[in-house]
Amino acid sequence: MRCTRCRGQEACLEVRRHNAAFCEDCFLAFFRDQVTRAIEHHKMFRRDEPVLVAVSGGKDSLALWDVLLDLGYDATGFYIGLGIPGYSEPSREKCEAFAARRHARLIVTDLEADYGLGIAETARRTMRTPCSACGLSKRYLFNKVAQEHGFRVIATGHNLDDEAATLFGNVLRWQTGYLGRQAPVLAEEDGFIRKVKPLYRLAEREMAAYCVLRGIDYIVDECPMSKGAKSLLFKDVLNQLEAVSPGTKQAFLFGFLEKVQPLFAQHEAVTLRPCTQCGQPTTAELCAFCRLRAEVAQPKRRRGRRGPQRAAPSPDGVTGPPAPALAES
Ligand code: SF4
Ligand code: ZN
Repeated sequence: MRCTRCRGQEACLEVRRHNAAFCEDCFLAFFRDQVTRAIEHHKMFRRDEPVLVAVSGGKDSLALWDVLLDLGYDATGFYIGLGIPGYSEPSREKCEAFAARRHARLIVTDLEADYGLGIAETARRTMRTPCSACGLSKRYLFNKVAQEHGFRVIATGHNLDDEAATLFGNVLRWQTGYLGRQAPVLAEEDGFIRKVKPLYRLAEREMAAYCVLRGIDYIVDECPMSKGAKSLLFKDVLNQLEAVSPGTKQAFLFGFLEKVQPLFAQHEAVTLRPCTQCGQPTTAELCAFCRLRAEVAQPKRRRGRRGPQRAAPSPDGVTGPPAPALAES
């Protein structure tokens, strides 16, 4: 099959939802075009604005960091060590190797060493699900560390598959608060920096193809904590629909963003104040992260028997329940 873009080279990847097939060069151009389109259409950040990129060592976040550097953006990586045995160490090494290869700056924070909150241990001690503790901690640190280093925007590697699966899960349970906040851009407000998702137009398999073509060495294994996560089931269901009807995922997500999300976004109204302990924005006296730290520090006998814990809701989930867990979010 010939590349449908240049019509000269042999195609190496079919993108059925666009009714297209690309050769290597044209695929990379397509990938960059989609990212540029997302950034410009949603005014995610300006060309001269420093961007913090949340990196996990996986294909999505390293592809994002790579493409932003390639497009000329001032992109700094931000890695959070999650304290997951056998997974966190190699993930960090992938990020460090990428940063060294691209001569890019990488900021590293370690939940275990810096906050005493390694995910595996925290989950065990608090009886939360690991993804609940992880999601809460990451959202908190994205905001805090970005502010400490003077960034006003953080970019995450959520792709089309991630966003469609999250939407699917939120619609199934009519999580209207989450639906109102699911957007390619969450604007800066009341102590929260801007959060953007420049990869939301590109599918998961396109991330893998991009990394292979660009020679990016990423961690292939999924996080061991993702086993049994609902998001994987939702992705599977959507993949089955996509296989028989290419473009379904994109139509589902883009239709939502265009026609429905603004309706839910209008119903958001919460009062935020600084956490009395750390100063980060929260709806309660103590933010969810500080409450989590306090919970982990409690003697075991006082915690009692409980099921998986959830905290009160807030605008971007910093003090709220976790968004559906994604294998690489
Ligand atoms: Fe964190 Fe994702 Fe692993 Fe869950 S699957 S613990 S959210 S990295
Ligand atoms: Zn706090």
